[in-house]
Amino acid sequence: EVMISMSKIEKTYKLGDNIVHALDHIDLTIEEGAFVSIVGPSGSGKSTLMNMMGCLDKPDGGEYTLGGSHIDRLKDRDLAEIRNRKIGFIFQNFNLLGKLTAVENVEMPLLYRGVKAKIRRARALECLKLVGLEERATHLPNQLSGGQQQRVAIARALAGEPQILLADEPTGALDSKTSEDIMKLLTTLNNSGRTIVLITHDLNVARKAKRTVSIRDGRLQEGEHI
Ligand code: ADP
Ligand code: ADP
Repeated sequence: EVMISMSKIEKTYKLGDNIVHALDHIDLTIEEGAFVSIVGPSGSGKSTLMNMMGCLDKPDGGEYTLGGSHIDRLKDRDLAEIRNRKIGFIFQNFNLLGKLTAVENVEMPLLYRGVKAKIRRARALECLKLVGLEERATHLPNQLSGGQQQRVAIARALAGEPQILLADEPTGALDSKTSEDIMKLLTTLNNSGRTIVLITHDLNVARKAKRTVSIRDGRLQEGEHI
């Protein structure tokens, strides 16, 4: 099954008289169950591609289908709905809510969906268990290490049972040992069937995925080209 299909995707920005081709004719297919890293230097178009994949932004041209839905033809409201249902986001800086405990943070995607409190709590605890943090459920983010906070964020991304996990520099704020642990966790989640797309500038991190795609000046190339 194809999870992501991008065909001739274009995104341009106007900077004064210049036009920046942030994404230049992107063709990309990602299968269900894949673990793909997209690696490229600063300014290569990673964030723009991530926003496109994550349904935060629409392309100027080309076609994008995610889990069978045609994203490029959707209205903004429907785009938000697809985003909330199909995608679990993992960020560099974890983006946890500081006043909520770990388990409350993990519940957030389920709260938005109107899942009842008991079911929400049970599912969130299950997700914390998946990332090995069930004993920290009632801790606040500032009582957790960086690696633990990222695990909570990963549990939150899993909570809504998304079709795909999108990780934007997930190890960018972590030391190398902790980064390795997080990459091992992502590998485990992939081995149990989850589709993962990871965006990074770090080739050592990118290599931990099963497939690497390089981006440079808004263009994609299969493999490592740094
Ligand atoms: P990366 O995430 O790899 O650093 P970006 O996707 O942020 O790359 O940027 C790709 C290119 O698009 C860069 O040349 C950047 O300057 C340009 N760009 C990104 N966002 C905007 C914007 N909102 N307005 C103008 N130019 C932008
Ligand atoms: P595990 O063996 O890792 O405990 P689960 O029983 O949680 O697996 O899930 C079984 C299958 O259902 C997974 O292989 C995966 O394809 C899918 N799945 C379950 N939960 C999620 C989720 N939160 N995100 C993505 N896929 C999920």
